[in-house]
Amino acid sequence: MAAISVAQIIKEALSEIKVRQLMLTPENYTEVYNEISSKYGFTTEEKRKIEKYISRLSGDYKSQASTVNINTVDEFVAFLTARINRSAQQNQNSSIDDEKEFKSLNAFTRRILQAISMLHNKEAKAMAEASMQLLSRKFDASKIDAMREKWFDIVSNYNDEYLDFLKYYGVRNFDDLQSMMSELDKFLTVQNENSPLCEISDLIVSMLQPSISTILEDDIEQMANQIKQNPICLSANDTKENIKKLIERRIEADRDEIGSKISSLNGVLVSISDKISDLSKTSHISSQKAHELKADIKDISFDASSFEQVRNMLFNIASTLEIESRELGVEMDNKQATISELQNRITTLENELATAKAESKEDFLTKTANKRALMEELRRIEEAYKRYGTDYSLCFMDIDFFKKINDNYGHDAGDAILATVAMILRKYSRAVDFVGRYGGEEFVVLLPSVNLNDGVKFADKLRKIIENFKFMYKGERINVTISSGVATRSLNINDNLTLESADKMLYAAKNGGRNQVMPQVIEK
Ligand code: GH3
Ligand code: MG
Ligand code: MG
Repeated sequence: MAAISVAQIIKEALSEIKVRQLMLTPENYTEVYNEISSKYGFTTEEKRKIEKYISRLSGDYKSQASTVNINTVDEFVAFLTARINRSAQQNQNSSIDDEKEFKSLNAFTRRILQAISMLHNKEAKAMAEASMQLLSRKFDASKIDAMREKWFDIVSNYNDEYLDFLKYYGVRNFDDLQSMMSELDKFLTVQNENSPLCEISDLIVSMLQPSISTILEDDIEQMANQIKQNPICLSANDTKENIKKLIERRIEADRDEIGSKISSLNGVLVSISDKISDLSKTSHISSQKAHELKADIKDISFDASSFEQVRNMLFNIASTLEIESRELGVEMDNKQATISELQNRITTLENELATAKAESKEDFLTKTANKRALMEELRRIEEAYKRYGTDYSLCFMDIDFFKKINDNYGHDAGDAILATVAMILRKYSRAVDFVGRYGGEEFVVLLPSVNLNDGVKFADKLRKIIENFKFMYKGERINVTISSGVATRSLNINDNLTLESADKMLYAAKNGGRNQVMPQVIEK
């Protein structure tokens, strides 16, 4: 490097300020002067100081300072101030991150402990709870260290031998608690139907069945299925509770059933008692016996324990009734024989009566000949007419408006009048004449050896007698008249036509105004 004086450096510095078109301020001058002097290998006192300070800085700061152009002590102080401020800010940020990290680790740890506290290891559970409390308090490194030691003890002393007994049941995989449970279930139910639990379950189910009542079937079936499918449920508290309730309901149902059976039995007794009363009323059973039986029934008092007594009592009643009814049977047989005998007698009498009726010749009410006897007598005098030429007349009589008499005074009055008219006819006819009742209130009088003229006289005589007769009934006078038709045999072809002819004339007398006699018209 060529030797250069301070005056030359000043000169070059001033011209450089001009070239750079800088204002000639002390700062600009110092900067350009230092630049020129260092170009020619000159260092100022300040420059040396700055280099000395920079060399004392550590690592990062030193390398940063050397890359930055520091010419004055002021610039060095400014550099340091900036660096210190920035570093202070960085420190502040990193402490916030640390705290966040700590909090999330703490929460994470507590969650793990919580999980452990739910496992079924008492010791681990207690430890987990204690640890959680510790972590929720103010951070205490020494206590946490002690706790960590205890955890170490648990882990190193943990004994899982108790799981070994499950191997006995064929369970090999202990990794998954759930699969282990289902293995156990399978073992206790399907695979081993002779297991004690299965046998007990059968007993329990049969115990639920009511002995008398038939209700509850659905509920019992449901419970039975549940127990059969999963006998282990017998150890569950709510299953025990349900079985207990069902047994209570079963007892209640049986009790109700017995109650209703007893009341229906009571009904039977009442009806037996009524039957006995009826029997004794109709004297089919001795009233003494009936009384005893009824007293027996009355004495029966029902409760569940008296079945045997009731059974015996009913049996006795049934036997007594049987004996009584057998005696009754014998008695009835005897009576039946008497009844049939009487019936036979009645039948005989009825037949006899019928025969007597058929053979009778007298009209019961008027004591005159009945129609059959009348016709026989007509046959007889007809024979005489035919054989000896003995003529006869025939008088057909009928009471006028007899229906009205019945209607006005009653049938009894009618009967009395009928009987009286017949009596008059008998009284005023000759012994050879024959009076007969032809029907209702019609009479025929046969007059042997009487011609038409005398026959009409006879009929009119009787008409008058009856017209004037004082028929009295219950203190009252009843007016009675009769009409007659008269025919004579010699004027007719035969007896029947003679009767017909008289009847025709009676009809004519009625048409003619009643209370009169009409003789047969003699055809010339
Ligand atoms: P008519 O003058 O046309 O003969 O009138 P009637 O009412 O007498 O004649 P009808 O033939 O209409 O009635 C006869 C009545 O005689 C009807 C019947 O009830 C009554 N009668 C017949 N037989 C008996 C009897 O035995 N006793 C009584 N009380 N009535 C009798
Ligand atoms: Mg008549
Ligand atoms: Mg009449």
